[in-house]
Order: sequence, then structure tokens, then C-alpha cells
Amino acid sequence: MNAPLPAEVLKQHLIDPEICIRCNTCEETCPIKAITHDSNNYVVDPEICNGCMACVPPCPTGAIDNWRLMVRAEAYGVQEQLGWEELPGEKALPESAAAAPVGDDDAAAAAEPVAPAPSAAPGATVPPWSAAHPYVNLYTHKAPMTATVVGNYRVTGADTESDIHHIVLDFGDLPFPVLEGQSIGILPPGVDAQGRAHHARQYSLASPRDGERAGYNNLSLTVKRVTEDHAGAAAHGVCSNYLCDLAKNDKVQVIGPFGHTFLMPNHPRANLIMICTGTGSAPMRAMTERYRRRIETGENGKLLLFFGARTERELPYFGPLMKLPRDFIDINLALSREAGQPKRYVQDLIRDRAGAVRELLADRNTCIYVCGLKGMEVGVLDALREVTLQAGEDWSILHDALRREGRLHFETY
Ligand code: NAP
Repeated sequence: MNAPLPAEVLKQHLIDPEICIRCNTCEETCPIKAITHDSNNYVVDPEICNGCMACVPPCPTGAIDNWRLMVRAEAYGVQEQLGWEELPGEKALPESAAAAPVGDDDAAAAAEPVAPAPSAAPGATVPPWSAAHPYVNLYTHKAPMTATVVGNYRVTGADTESDIHHIVLDFGDLPFPVLEGQSIGILPPGVDAQGRAHHARQYSLASPRDGERAGYNNLSLTVKRVTEDHAGAAAHGVCSNYLCDLAKNDKVQVIGPFGHTFLMPNHPRANLIMICTGTGSAPMRAMTERYRRRIETGENGKLLLFFGARTERELPYFGPLMKLPRDFIDINLALSREAGQPKRYVQDLIRDRAGAVRELLADRNTCIYVCGLKGMEVGVLDALREVTLQAGEDWSILHDALRREGRLHFETY
């Protein structure tokens, strides 16, 4: 059993700035708002953190899982942490405070109180039971891998504002094992306004585990050129513009892979409900392609896709998607700005297809994946709640089960 810590000692929760990919998952997950960030770092406020561990499982890199035994009065403050480029080393405690030894695996027990807090995240923090084991953090900021661009194609209509690219990176002879649903980090060249090297930007894989081209050591990304922020003001996306402008044979610095929960089930006849907007289609393309490549095994479950975009011409991969056999994937497109058509969001189509959604939800072999705009989260959850209630079922019970069993996953920004 773990010995309790003396009152003046704090097992301080810290985030490793060298591993963190600034994905915001921890800040979103923390049930008591102990995590904050600036343009440099994500940090934990020692005045608020109660060591509940809710943020630890969802972190795609493990950067969140760092702890230091500190004299409470000397704990690292928020401002100090925001300035860090790397974690400080362990400090020896004064003898009076060093009575209780604490090991690496007893962080939860060491920070008081230990009552597990429910996560604030709407989705699961565990993968589906049959997901393959993912590798994470094989390549880091300190030791990135160099990939070669072998393809860069626009996948939206040339006459539209949505300049979305399908970018293929090849890893040559170096191992880069990935699973559908995982992401990688790209290190854009150059420095930020403070003269620091740019942080890595995270992109979901758009290709399945066996490569963009089956059997090749490559993968693909879906990248939208950012020219404005979420509020519509002009903004130059550092990494998206860098990536969209890459030419064949250019070299790119890559870190990762990341992610150990947003993974697809591996058991036969698992069904997928995929709900996405815009470039959030990347992991859906990866999972769909995984299923497509094994159609002949006869082991696939059903695929139900809800895909939102402004218009058909702004929907990435529209052409190839529409060529997929209708008995392989049930495709529902929600177009919000198509001339002469009413505005439709994915959540509207979930309601329209309530019967099909309910049928799959009733099957414990079904997993749900939601990826894309942050704003869709609430709407999608409301729609799922409604279709469940219509059948006389209790959404809160089903929602809890979906989260507990790793069957409902969100990746939204
Ligand atoms: P977008 O073109 O701005 O929007 C796609 C569609 O979603 C549009 O039809 C839009 O309708 C609709 N929409 C807007 N608000 C919505 C809401 N509250 N509920 C449901 N639908 C809504 O999308 P985008 O620029 O491609 O953005 C995709 C998002 O995915 C980004 O936030 C990106 O960070 C994220 N993402 C990307 C990746 C990747 O690997 N590239 C991975 C994960 C997530 P309107 O006509 O009303 O705008």
C-alpha cells in the first residue's frame, strides 16, 4: 500500500512541453478546469488540480502523465510553467518532508483527494475492446523522422474556397506503424513571433494501417488550407499552408504516431457509425478503406456515414466516395450551402435516418466516431439522444455504456 504523503508535500501534476502536441484534449477533459494554456504551453494549475486523473487516459501522447514530488509551498506556478521549454528535473525533498517514498505508478494514490472524477469529455477514454494495440511517440520533437512527399492533390472543386489537399508521405525504410484513427504531428519549418521553433500540428491519418497504397510504407493526410480563423477573420495557417504548398520529393519533419483511444474495432461484423464534417473525414476515409480492402473476407459489419460539407464540390473525396458500392456503405451527405437546397447538418440527417441509427445502436458491435468541427458535438449528441428517446430508451444509460465500452469517440477542433 502507498504511504500517505506528508501534508507539506505535493505530488505536482505537470505536462511535458516537449511531448505535448497542444491538441487541447486535457483542457477539455478536466472536470474542474485545472488546465490552461497560452501560445507556448498547456499547464496544470497546482492550486486547482486534485489529481483525479480524468485527463490522463485521453491524452494522445502521454505528455500529461508527469509528476514531481514538491514541497507544497514551492510548487511550480502557472506562469512559470507557461515559460518552460522542457520539464525541470526531480528535486530532492528536504529530509523532513521526504518520509513517504512515491513510485511512478502511484500518482493517483499520491495526490489527494483520490476520488475519481467523471471526465468532462463527451466520448470514451478507452478504445473498443477489440482494437489493435497502437504504437505512440515513436518519433518526438527531439528526434523527428523525415518523410518524403510522394503526392499532393487537391480533393475539392478548384473553383471553391475550400482548398483541401490529400497529401501522401512516404517513410522509406524507417518503421512508422499506425492504425486508423491515429494522428501524426508535422513540424513546420521556421519560428513563431517569439522566435521559437513552431510547435507540431496534429493531423489525422486518412489512410489505413497498411498504407495509402497497400503494402507501402506511406500514409496520407487531409489538410485544409487555413486562410481565416473560426470567426472568419483573415489568418494564415502556418502548417496547413506549408503542407498544401509542398511539392513531390520535398522532405517533411514528422513526429508521432499519437492516439490510443479513437481506434476502430477489429472483431468480425463490427459496425461503424461515422459522423464527420469537412477534413474531419480523414479518419473515416481510413476506416472505410480498411473495410473496403477486406470486403471479400465477408467479415465486415455495416458502415453508416454522415458527412457534412458546404457543397458537393467542397466535400473532400466526393468522387471516390460516391463510387463505393451502396451495399458496402450507407452514405448520407449533409450540405449546408448548396444553391437551391435547404441548409442541412449531419445532426439533421441522423434524425432523418433514426431507424437505421437505432438499429445499429442496439447492436453492441457498433462503434460511433465523430470528427470535425467542435460545434457539431452538441448537435450530434442531441440527435443521438432524440433517436434513442423516440424508441423509449434512456439515452443517459446508453451514453454511459457507449463511453464505458469505448464505443463512442470524438475528435473535434
Ligand atoms: P467546414 O467546411 O467549415 O464545415 C463543414 C460543414 O460543417 C459545413 O457544412 C458547415 O456548415 C458544417 N457545420 C458548421 N457548424 C456546424 C455544427 N455546429 N454542426 C454541424 N455541422 C456544422 O469544415 P472544415 O473547415 O473542413 O473543418 C473541419 C474541422 O475538422 C476543423 O475544425 C478541423 O480542425 C477538424 N479536424 C481536422 C482533421 C484533419 O486531420 N485535417 C482531423 C480532425 C478534425 P456551415 O455552412 O454552416 O459552415
